[in-house]
Amino acid sequence: MLSADGWFHFADRRWIGPVGKYYTEVNGQHGIVFHSAEGGLPALIGELMKPDRQASWCGSIDKDGTLYQHYATQRSCWTSGNKKANTSFYAFEAVGRRGEPLTKQQEDTVLRIIEDGAAAGGWKPERKVTIWEHNEVATIAKPNAGPTACPSNRYDAVWARLEEEDMARLDELEAKLNLLLRNVYGEMGDVYASQIKAEERSLEQDRAMRQSELPGLAVRLQGHIEDQESHS
Ligand SMILES: [Zn+2]
Repeated sequence: MLSADGWFHFADRRWIGPVGKYYTEVNGQHGIVFHSAEGGLPALIGELMKPDRQASWCGSIDKDGTLYQHYATQRSCWTSGNKKANTSFYAFEAVGRRGEPLTKQQEDTVLRIIEDGAAAGGWKPERKVTIWEHNEVATIAKPNAGPTACPSNRYDAVWARLEEEDMARLDELEAKLNLLLRNVYGEMGDVYASQIKAEERSLEQDRAMRQSELPGLAVRLQGHIEDQESHS
């Protein structure tokens, strides 16, 4: 759980960050940005505690899965490359470096943070909507600190697990719905269930087409229009 004042119940609060290392704006808490610490815990905490170092973040996730929370989620810390990202989302650093995938314990903690953060914030965990990597938000606004590779694909296994959880939840919902339809409509319930399934599949195809084929179609059409214009 995430308390109303922005602290995760399971977090260790022994290292609270220095006062004032954040924007005065309250964080919108519209989602979370994940980072790679590129080092061990002592160095990371050392950076956090330096009063003159312009870097701060909500919490650090050690390799054993412990979450050390440094600031409440309402704080707009300095870590994701620009003011918009820093005031819209709160952020976490995972101990370890490029080339080292998160440990299983770190993965579990990330998923727990996401689950509790989403429940408290009233948003749905969705990659590149509410759940971000540093590199995906580093340049969404100017001025910014420039592009970055952080967190260098270290979270890939977590994103796969997030997707699996989503699919499992969908399957569960579908099973419940089918049972309900059968209870209410008897044998016709199965027919309705398969109609809903077909509708769902065609919606998925529509969406896939919008994302993949339509932009290409627009470019071809534009080329076609330009051709026409140059001939007239
Ligand atoms: Zn980062």
